[in-house]
Amino acid sequence: MQKVISKIFDRPSRYGMVGDGFRVFNYFPSGNPIRTQVSPFLMLDFNPAFDFGPSETPRGVDVHPHKGFETVTIAYKGSVAHHDSSGNSGVIHPGDVQWMTAGAGILHKEYHEKNFAQNGGPFEMVQLWVNLPKAHKLTPPKYQALEAASMSKVMLPENGGYVNVIAGDLNGTKGSASTFTEINVFDIRMNSGGVLSTRVPASHNASLLVIDGNAVVNGQQAAKHQFVLFKNEGEEITIRANEDSVLLFLSGIPINEPIAQYGPFVMNTQEELQEAFHEYQSGKFGVLN
Ligand code: MN
Repeated sequence: MQKVISKIFDRPSRYGMVGDGFRVFNYFPSGNPIRTQVSPFLMLDFNPAFDFGPSETPRGVDVHPHKGFETVTIAYKGSVAHHDSSGNSGVIHPGDVQWMTAGAGILHKEYHEKNFAQNGGPFEMVQLWVNLPKAHKLTPPKYQALEAASMSKVMLPENGGYVNVIAGDLNGTKGSASTFTEINVFDIRMNSGGVLSTRVPASHNASLLVIDGNAVVNGQQAAKHQFVLFKNEGEEITIRANEDSVLLFLSGIPINEPIAQYGPFVMNTQEELQEAFHEYQSGKFGVLN
């Protein structure tokens, strides 16, 4: 049985700036009831292609904390540099992904990469926030650099394109990232006329963002920047690209635990939030200049 589509959402009407380097549309902000239907994903920020222009001082977000979840940044156009208080750093280029586990607490900063910033050019990114279950919220911070060249890949039949299997399992091909709960994150690059058929468990919350192009998803048209939300009914998913298209598919077992969030901290209770804030204020997340 086909996985049933719940609703197809248009792009939110307004964008917000994260620092001065990320011009993002937030597809499921906190307080939005859609959040229970996308768990374990907590946030999807999409910066559609935008040219910020050349800048000697790289744009971005200065040092800030996170605790209790993971941030996953996918680069489509342009390059992003990352540094954190665990001593990890890296640059992601188009097709690359950085999967940062904040866990017990971390400081990091996120900037346009220096050379890219100097030259300018189109910049396109997604940042996902992935919740951690209570049992793993205090896991030590970790950084996974997933480069396009070594990413798990599935070729689509008849020159239909390919899928970067960032996490999970696509038709038997395991994803590159290690995750704490069962999650699929697929970066789908389809040629016009390409077809992707797969199944995900009905129990998975599932959704899909059209980054570019447009496609028919289980019989319904999904246009550029639309967001397709599925119900927990049915397993089969068939995507047919009407033109060259880039799609981001997300699914996972929902984490059915209370969420207490204050900005960059996502815990289970108010007490844990206060503790996180106190730890941050007293320097327990380390040092980052
Ligand atoms: Mn951050």
